Amino acid sequence: MAIPIPSRQLFIDGEWRQPIKKKRLPIINPATEEIIGDIPAATAEDVDIAVDAARRALVRNRGRDWASASGAYRAKYLRAIAAKITERKSELAKLETIDCGKPLEEAAWDIDDVAACFEYYADLAEGLDAKQKAPVSLPMETFKCHVLREPIGVVGLITPWNYPLLMATWKVAPALAAGCAAILKPSELASITCLELAQVCREVGLPPGVLSVLTGLGPEAGAPLASHPHVDKIAFTGSTFTGSKIMTAAAQIVKPVTLELGGKSPILVFEDVDIDKAAEWTIFGCFWTNGQMCSATSRLLLHESIAAEFLDRLVKWSKNIKISDPLEEGCRLGPIVSAGQYEKVMKLISTARSEGATILCGGAHPQHLKKGFFVEPTIISDVSTSMQIWREEVFGPVLCVKTFSTEDEAIELANDTHYGLGAAVISKDLERCERITKALQAGVVWVNCSQPCFVQAPWGGNKRSGFGRELGEWGLENYLSVKQVTKYISDEPW
Ligand code: NAD
Repeated sequence: MAIPIPSRQLFIDGEWRQPIKKKRLPIINPATEEIIGDIPAATAEDVDIAVDAARRALVRNRGRDWASASGAYRAKYLRAIAAKITERKSELAKLETIDCGKPLEEAAWDIDDVAACFEYYADLAEGLDAKQKAPVSLPMETFKCHVLREPIGVVGLITPWNYPLLMATWKVAPALAAGCAAILKPSELASITCLELAQVCREVGLPPGVLSVLTGLGPEAGAPLASHPHVDKIAFTGSTFTGSKIMTAAAQIVKPVTLELGGKSPILVFEDVDIDKAAEWTIFGCFWTNGQMCSATSRLLLHESIAAEFLDRLVKWSKNIKISDPLEEGCRLGPIVSAGQYEKVMKLISTARSEGATILCGGAHPQHLKKGFFVEPTIISDVSTSMQIWREEVFGPVLCVKTFSTEDEAIELANDTHYGLGAAVISKDLERCERITKALQAGVVWVNCSQPCFVQAPWGGNKRSGFGRELGEWGLENYLSVKQVTKYISDEPW
């Protein structure tokens, strides 16, 4: 099934523009390893033009510019974007699948979530009108005070490839709702749908400069955006390694950042669980999106009394997961996004093997597929807490297992990581779940499930998983700044 890939340029100031250096990057379908198109590669010169357009969008026509327009005005555009995305759902899902390799059904859920996110922030944009100016009570009658909540200004949004359009939307929708002008730099490994978002914005008549989309390489397009003196804030989702670079660049000019970074999240399974249900959540929590989730619960902590039966079930089910071209119906596991990521995953597995870990299943390229960056669902036991496979984010379908005998031991193992994004606890004892929830060092805790994510609830991590929260009202606050206004209202001299 050939899917036409739209040929696009950079989207700047409401127009398609060739990159100044005219460079383009190949798009590779990870399931076939074929080059299926290309994307424009922006450099610092293009970033300068986009920043200039964004600044003009904020103040273009006093009274009707993006920053000072009402939330209701901005909400109309967000709703129009949501409607167009829904109209193009099936095409966008296919484009996402051939670009990043996730099963088509999962890509379709992502596109639904994208539309829902634009709708949600349209609601919050409307709600903002009533909250724009809020009184503050003071102890002295001679003064009156209120606060204004204003858009931060021009924001740079740098995003990864695992949920290409959805991760971009988690930033674009609240930024636009707040009245910011945004410059989006998607991952060079999966940019197609973000360029289509630009096309959607064009079709709904979003004012020029309110959203620019600059595709290209991290060091060439992302770094100049992060360090640009006229970009007021950077919101970043990606690896902890790159997040640290972004923070360093932003620190040079004291620019605020929010960072959504990597993870190595635990799932704690106790002796009282329903084995089938717990096994289902364990598999879903680690192998969904081909295991390429920042919040994948990839460290299984298993009560020793049920370990043998539980692992038997997990291995049996994992071997039955359908691995195929992600466009194929019923596919449950597609390829890793790129050759580079594939090699990284395979190397981590082979290092674990050579260090004495046991590969209970998987660990190889599936034999029935000749091409593509596929990795079988892999379960590894006999790991020590010092092994790389236990400590580092793999970002592939790899689950590591350790057993425990007491609740305290489970909590200690769960928290023994530099990361703090997600954590899951599975037990019928809800009091125990509550105790453990409080003890877990993570920004998101799932009880008797793993991975469900709702646009209304805050998302983000602690420790080296980053800081700041996206989604919900917290997501909107990321793009607002608070201004105190104090008036002296007495005729008496001060
Ligand atoms: P990455 O850090 O390699 O790249 C992320 C983005 O940063 C890309 O757009 C890339 O081009 C850009 N970039 C790279 N170098 C840069 C530089 N020097 N300056 C500015 N920008 C630069 O991450 P990735 O491989 O695309 O994504 C996978 C990572 O993202 C994983 O670690 C995953 O855990 C994390 N992630 C986190 C969340 C979350 O919510 N916490 C969500 C999704 C993914």
